[in-house]
Amino acid sequence: MAIIVVLVTSSVSIWSSYRSFYEISSITEDDLQKLTMNSSTMEQIADNRAVSFSLLFKKSIVPIIILTAIIIVLAIGFARKITKPLNVLSVMIERGEGVQKTMTWYYEADLLKKSVQNMIVCSDSKIKDLTNQLNLDALTGIPNRRQMDQALNDLILNKVPHTIILIDLDDFKSINDTYGHMVGDEVLKDFAHRMQECIKNQGMCFRYGGEEFMIILPTKTIDDAVALAENLRIKQALQETVCGKPVTMSAGITAFAPNIQSPNQLIEIADHALYQAKHSGRNCVCVVKNMRQMIIK
Ligand code: GH3
Ligand code: MG
Ligand code: MG
Repeated sequence: MAIIVVLVTSSVSIWSSYRSFYEISSITEDDLQKLTMNSSTMEQIADNRAVSFSLLFKKSIVPIIILTAIIIVLAIGFARKITKPLNVLSVMIERGEGVQKTMTWYYEADLLKKSVQNMIVCSDSKIKDLTNQLNLDALTGIPNRRQMDQALNDLILNKVPHTIILIDLDDFKSINDTYGHMVGDEVLKDFAHRMQECIKNQGMCFRYGGEEFMIILPTKTIDDAVALAENLRIKQALQETVCGKPVTMSAGITAFAPNIQSPNQLIEIADHALYQAKHSGRNCVCVVKNMRQMIIK
């Protein structure tokens, strides 16, 4: 735009300079012809006009061309300086890098940079929220079954030795029926919290679904898993819950073996152990080791 304005202004000034020069020359020629001058005088006038034109070219057209060139170069430089922060900003956004390092030397670019920064912060927190919603259980806040499947899959695929504890709260339906669903929810939250306290960083705790939970203990042996499960079971059995009495748990334990191909296979064995624990009177732990069962009370 600036270049067009400069070009138009220069053209107009060149054209008007040329017009005034031509007018002066024609007036002189007409006047002289009226006065019937001789041919040598006419030649002299023609020479004078050529000299005047070259003078006009030197005095006004050349400086105007030089000035126009300088203005064009300056305009291009200025335009590049204006667009540079915008280009850097768009490259940073495209690459997913932070925009903090973008140098903005004028107000509008700075405003744009701040808006982009705010937008990135907002979308980051939304992504975090959505990831939490995807991976955490809404009631207890601990990782959900989706996370559990992912963790087990990774361990099995990489053949990492590990043990699992499948937990089910005993007679939970009667808690809901007697004290209401809200109290039942509080018991579930309370248990999830206790389970995490007991395991700390020795393993990972998940809500498997309903009143069932799972603990994965990477690199731990069956004996370690039994010790942890028994510790949790005893604590749970002794702890009074919001309904005014303890709610006990039963657990089925098993360990990864090289023939296990999928999380479901491993969970099935733990579920079998849990079933045995329920049939042994609840509030106990059952282990399936090399396909042999062992009840611990
Ligand atoms: P068992 O000792 O054999 O496990 O008996 P149980 O009563 O615990 O098992 P059952 O499968 O009969 O009942 C499970 C109950 O858990 C039924 C269901 O309403 C309740 N439950 C599942 N999810 C939730 C939940 O998110 N909140 C509450 N309050 N209750 C739930
Ligand atoms: Mg159940
Ligand atoms: Mg139950």
